[in-house]
Parts: sequence; structure tokens; C-alpha cells
Amino acid sequence: MSTTRAPVRSSNEDEVDVVVVGGGSAGLSAAKILARSRRSVLLIDAGHGRNAPAGGVHNYLYAEGTAPATLLEIGRSEAHAYDVEVVEGTATAAAVLTDPRPGGPRFTVTLSTGDEPGRTVEARRVVLATGLVDVLPDVAGLAQRWGRDVLHCPFCHGWEVRDQAVGVLGTNPMALHQVMLFRQLTDDVVYFQHTAPDPGDDQVEQLAALGVEWVVGQVTAVQTTDDALTGLQMADGRVFARQAVAVSTGLEARTDLLADLGLDTTDLELGGVVAGHYLPTDPAGLTATAGVWAAGNVAAPMAQVITSAAAGSGVGAAVHMELMGEDIEVAVAALRARRESQASSFSAATEAEVCERVLGDRRHGAAL
Ligand SMILES: Cc1cc2nc3c(=O)[nH]c(=O)nc-3n(C[C@H](O)[C@H](O)[C@H](O)COP(=O)(O)OP(=O)(O)OC[C@H]3O[C@@H](n4cnc5c(N)ncnc54)[C@H](O)[C@@H]3O)c2cc1C
Repeated sequence: MSTTRAPVRSSNEDEVDVVVVGGGSAGLSAAKILARSRRSVLLIDAGHGRNAPAGGVHNYLYAEGTAPATLLEIGRSEAHAYDVEVVEGTATAAAVLTDPRPGGPRFTVTLSTGDEPGRTVEARRVVLATGLVDVLPDVAGLAQRWGRDVLHCPFCHGWEVRDQAVGVLGTNPMALHQVMLFRQLTDDVVYFQHTAPDPGDDQVEQLAALGVEWVVGQVTAVQTTDDALTGLQMADGRVFARQAVAVSTGLEARTDLLADLGLDTTDLELGGVVAGHYLPTDPAGLTATAGVWAAGNVAAPMAQVITSAAAGSGVGAAVHMELMGEDIEVAVAALRARRESQASSFSAATEAEVCERVLGDRRHGAAL
């Protein structure tokens, strides 16, 4: 692995090609592919990865079951090996420069770290990889178990609760979809309707056909014993013994810097309801603000670790190509300017006159 410093465009060390905000799988992948193309990259990460509470990352090829913190450490060291400047801290503000130099958009991003509050970096491009926040329903004890035995994704941790007593806590129409997905993993699923709308006749029939018990009423608390979930308590006092609970969370893109960059989120519609908000981009990851790109859960709430990494990689490559186009434009403009200035200061007529004066009749190589 090369440790040669990538060429930096400017003598100003607080000017880089790209600032990547967020260092989960999306941000780290974007940073690494950019740095391997010798782009100067600063990545800032607050270190609150979405899957941090989970014991292991599943469905990530070549690293099955690796702890999120370990994967993060590996990703940071890979990025660092290609001279990405990895900063632990928070990007607190950004601005689109109103008077950009020729060649494309320019930005400033303000970083807050323990050491350097308020450091401002100038960047040619910004990649937002800030992820999302899962908003849990207000049930006592639920948040404390999040990512352990309170789950949301059958693909992420369904295998780990196979054959267990699972409860699905309904908050929206997608809950029944979750019931079906978890029913594939265990025979023992209870559907707690909680705040979800009434199921239709077909869905009631499906629940019966699959042997899923359907419980109507408010769930008020999660019960635990010896640091393990043991049941759900209802408002009417009933308690249902369960070992794990699946819940659809609100999926809210982190909105840090969006307003500063002239961006906003849009509704995420799932099952006919608004299940959260995300930052829209074009298929390549470009946002509505030229020069600002996005990858991972901030723009694709359903993306997993591997697909977020893939999105980051794609965005990194696209940003590099955009910068390459800009570099070529600038180089061609400089070449033309040089040629024009040479042409105006040393025209064909001037050249002939100089030749005549200096060489006289020997100017064609023959002394007559
Ligand atoms: C409990 C749980 C378990 C999961 N398990 C799995 C699994 O097993 N397999 C799987 O494929 N997927 C899993 N997922 C989904 C997985 O977490 C996401 O797909 C993945 O984290 C998305 O990566 P990301 O890079 O977009 O965002 P994140 O990993 O969330 O990273 C975003 C980063 O940006 C940082 N950030 C945000 N704003 C700023 C700012 N202003 N300045 C600096 N930094 C900032 C955050 O602190 C964070 O570190 C799980 C999700 C949850 C909730």
C-alpha cells in the first residue's frame, strides 16, 4: 500500500478537493476511492454510526459478523493509508461560496473537534454521508434494548433470533410486512397492533393462515430480566412473554448542513404513509446543489452496510470524474491563454523581422 502523499492543489492546507461528512461505510468508501485517485480528501466523522448498538454486522461480504466498531476502525485505517485526513468531530456549518474561482463550485465546511473548534476548510466538492436517525415509538424500555433484542431488520439480525418468541410492534402499515418476514425465521410470532391501522380482511386471513397471534391494544413497556428482553406489557395489564421485538422505526435523514447548502429532505413513503425523510439525489448521487453529493442512508434509507459502501464508492468515482473534467477545462483554458499571449506578443510578422535582423541571408540555413 502506497503511503506517498497525494498531490494537493494548493499551498493552503485548509483547502482540499473533497470534504466527506460522515465516516460510516458510505463516507469511508467515497473517501478511499477518491484518495486512490490522488484527490486530497478530508473526512470528518462524529462516530455515531447507525448500527453502533449491534453486536455484529451481517450480510457484509468477507466480514460476516464483524463488530461495527471493528469495521469502522478497519475502514478508517484503509482510508488513512491513502492519505485521507480522518478527523473525529462534527461538521457544524457549510457554505456555498458566492464568488467561486473559475472552474466550478466551491464550499467551506466548518469543523468542530475537541482540539480545534471552528476550523474551516475550503473544498471543491462536498460528499454528505451523514446517515439517518431511527426514531423509536415511545414505549418504556424500548430504546435501551435497541439493536440488541429490539430490532428492525430481518436481514440484519433475523437469523440471530430464529426460532425465538418474536413480537412485532405495529406503528404503521409496514408492520404486517415485517410480520411476514420474521415469520419466515420463527414459528412463534405475535403481532401487536399498537398504533398501526387495522389490518384488512386479507391480512387478517394471512395472519391466521401463518399462525400469528394478533393482539390489539397499546403496548406500554418492555420487560427485561438479567439484561435480556422477556416480554411486552400492555396498557390493560396483560403481559406477553417475548424474547425479541421487531419494530418499524421512523427513518429520518440527518439534516446537518442541508439548509446551509440549499438542500432539503423529502418524504419517504412506505406502504402509503410517510415513514421518514431522505435527501433526494439523481441516480449518480448528485443533490440539487451543484457540487454537493450524497451517499448511504442519508439519501437511501433502506440501504444496508454493503449497499451504502457501494453507493459511497460510486459517488467517490463520480466526484473524481467531475473534478477531472473541471481540471481539464482549467488546463485547456490556461493553455489557450498562454498561446494567445504568445501569439499577440510574438506574431509571425515579428518573428520574420527578428530573423531578418539576426540572421540576414543565413536565415534559411545557407550562407549565400
Ligand atoms: C441496530 C441496527 C443494526 C444494523 N445492522 C446491520 C447489519 O447487520 N447489516 C447491514 O448491512 N446493515 C445493518 N444496519 C443498517 C446500517 O446501519 C446502515 O445501512 C449503515 O450504517 C449506513 O451507512 P452510512 O454510512 O450511510 O451511515 P452511518 O453508518 O450511520 O454513518 C454516518 C456517520 O456520519 C456521522 N455524521 C452525521 N452527521 C455528521 C456531521 N455533521 N459531522 C460529522 N459526522 C457526522 C455519524 O456520526 C456517523 O458516524 C443496521 C442498522 C441498525 C439501526
